Amino acid sequence: MYRTHTCGELTMKNVGQQVTLAGWIQRIRNLGGMTFIDLRDRYGITQLVFNMEKNSQLCEEARALGREYVIQVIGTVAERENKNPRLATGDIEILVETLKIINPSAIPPFTIEDETDGGEELRMKYRYLDLRRNPLKNNLLLRHRMAQEVRRYLDGQQFIEIETPVLMKSTPEGARDFVVPSRMNPGQFYALPQSPQTLKQILMVAGYDRYFQIVKCFRDEDLRADRQPEFTQIDCEMSFVDRDDILVTFEGLIKHLFKTIKGIDFTEPFQRMSYADAMAYFGSDKPDIRFDMKIVELTSKAKGKGFGIFDQAEYIGGINATGCADYSRKEIDALTEFVKRPQIGASGMVYVKYQSDGSIKSSIDKFYTADELRIWLEAAGAKPGDLLLILSGAREKTLKALGNLRLEMGDRLGLRKQDIYAPLWVIDFPLLEWDEEMQRYFAMHHPFTAPVDEDIPLFNTDPSKIRAKAYDMVINGVEVGGGSVRIHQKDLQAKMFEALGFTREEAEYQFGFLMNAFQYGAPPHAGIAFGFDRLVSLFAGLESIRDVIAFPKNNAGRDLMLDSPSYLTEAQLNELRIKVVTDEKNC
Ligand code: ASP
Repeated sequence: MYRTHTCGELTMKNVGQQVTLAGWIQRIRNLGGMTFIDLRDRYGITQLVFNMEKNSQLCEEARALGREYVIQVIGTVAERENKNPRLATGDIEILVETLKIINPSAIPPFTIEDETDGGEELRMKYRYLDLRRNPLKNNLLLRHRMAQEVRRYLDGQQFIEIETPVLMKSTPEGARDFVVPSRMNPGQFYALPQSPQTLKQILMVAGYDRYFQIVKCFRDEDLRADRQPEFTQIDCEMSFVDRDDILVTFEGLIKHLFKTIKGIDFTEPFQRMSYADAMAYFGSDKPDIRFDMKIVELTSKAKGKGFGIFDQAEYIGGINATGCADYSRKEIDALTEFVKRPQIGASGMVYVKYQSDGSIKSSIDKFYTADELRIWLEAAGAKPGDLLLILSGAREKTLKALGNLRLEMGDRLGLRKQDIYAPLWVIDFPLLEWDEEMQRYFAMHHPFTAPVDEDIPLFNTDPSKIRAKAYDMVINGVEVGGGSVRIHQKDLQAKMFEALGFTREEAEYQFGFLMNAFQYGAPPHAGIAFGFDRLVSLFAGLESIRDVIAFPKNNAGRDLMLDSPSYLTEAQLNELRIKVVTDEKNC
């Protein structure tokens, strides 16, 4: 037997017992005649004591050990003189009688402590060492608990978990596919699923009216902190439901997670906000509603007074920063620099200070009287002491820039508190998005998303105005999930493909299997998928999803530990009938 107990469970109740423990050496301290070792496993840390006077040979052996050695000890549990209230086992220690080295360890390249000295790349290369650290361990434990609660909730709602293949065909999410060559079908390739979208719809045709899967999805996209080439979704689909059934069922899932994992009880239904309102008031389709600071349109109030920049703008809008009228020149300049960053794209910023004494100071005093500016301040609900920040330009771009400025001000004013959660549904997305470069429409969600019934005639007149029966769940400015009611009628689907510029043949080649299935009694259906990594990172209070994934990839899509991707041998390539055209050498 390797161990009688874990390193996290012995307490005063065990004093006097003989125990066997096994684990990794966290730390060795030599204090005069005593040597202390902190022995660690997944469950915690237990202090081992070696006494020079009692057994000098054993104590010398202990002193010769190193960090991260795996050892086994037999000893007696004793009450500690200096108790450590921060450790679950802090009241006791083990007086060691026998010591066995199970496996020595090389010196780790970084310290395995909560705060480590290792850089990110180094920690990714030695991920198994990084995963020994508490912060990562706690993230994986949280992830596990959340996965269990997801299953518990959905199982309780009659959902069944069904696996779908990884070697698949292109799915409709519109990102670039990862592909796998087929040896048995030379020249042909599988695509890894961007999601199980088409298969879950086929499962509805097959009659499995409540499906879910915690599933890997693959998208070959440029990576950022919150993106990985492979990520995990809680993928769900239901039949004989409309939009509100989905919203209620999956609001229930999120509430269940908040309650069981965080102890937070959301009693009220989540707010529902139209895409149009989200853009108009928050400049984003994923508004952070932990704080108000809504965007106020000032176009009609600010135009026509001879200020050229505003007179030429399609849209003028502002946000009111409460209590910021005393911002210095330097602070205003910093905000101006912020909005001028290429990712934000504003060309400048105008401010109006509503000073505490009631007077008004602005960067455009020359063009507007105090009374005119007062009308803007009123529209924005500003009080003395507040600062109105104004951007102008093309409508959509300016709203997005204001949305970013709003988040920046939210950060500066400490309004985006980590321990507050503000979930909402964003609904009524546009069905189609016009791509200027490609001169064609793209599906904003995917081509199987149903239009709002009363908007169907717009296919013939103004497709850009069609609203979709699509919805996103947003928490604290993060899109955690999204889905839609699906089209289940052949004719409507054909109309949609046509609007997207698919020829009949293209639609048939890519999605013919689904259209075929739809001929055999397709029930009305709808679904949603949650980004599980994002949900876990949100619950863990982390910005990046990397630290909630056991083996993530870096920004270049590489697994630094496996050193992957890697070259194939000539023989492998020949077998696949693939010729690599590159300057790099194959192995
Ligand atoms: N398959 C969709 C996605 O991955 C989600 C859905 O519509 O259910 O975005």
